[in-house]
Amino acid sequence: MPQAIVLTHAHPDHADGLSEGAPCPVYATAETWEALADYPVANRELLHPGRPILIQGVWLAPRPVRHSPRVSTIGLRIRGDKGDFFYAPDLIGIPGPRRALQGVSLYIGDGSSFTGALTREENGQRYGHAPIPDQLRWCAEQGVAEAIFTHCGEEIVAGDEAQAISELETWGRKFGVRARLAFHGLELDW
Ligand SMILES: [Zn+2]
Ligand SMILES: [Zn+2]
Repeated sequence: MPQAIVLTHAHPDHADGLSEGAPCPVYATAETWEALADYPVANRELLHPGRPILIQGVWLAPRPVRHSPRVSTIGLRIRGDKGDFFYAPDLIGIPGPRRALQGVSLYIGDGSSFTGALTREENGQRYGHAPIPDQLRWCAEQGVAEAIFTHCGEEIVAGDEAQAISELETWGRKFGVRARLAFHGLELDW
């Protein structure tokens, strides 16, 4: 049984598990709660982007990330025993990447695509999912040594797994970041 649930945004692949309620407090921004107004979640807690919060003894700082023109999205900088990590499953970019990523030892990123297949443009602005190589470049620029990719898309899950892993490792070596894929049941000693 979870003790708390933290939502990054209101897209159905992230939020629809709450369509029948939740057994614990759920944390989300005001915009996300507005989008989920009809969900029968009794214990709604508010997150403010840029304002750190302690949840069940865990320090985390919600940071705005860019993902969708209509659905506001946050990434989470979380303090572990071994240092901070940053969790950003859906994003095209991080405004103020220094504050989000500098001093972070692990980046947990958006594994939707290696290519730019899941990015699109609206009013001159890019939205969707950043290619994995872009995210590894952000890590390299901010000195983040390790990355794990979750939220894996077709290019990874529908193809040859060994090939996807080797492509990821090749990109990781190019940027000097140790990169690996998340898997069901993965536990982090962090
Ligand atoms: Zn999304
Ligand atoms: Zn998603």
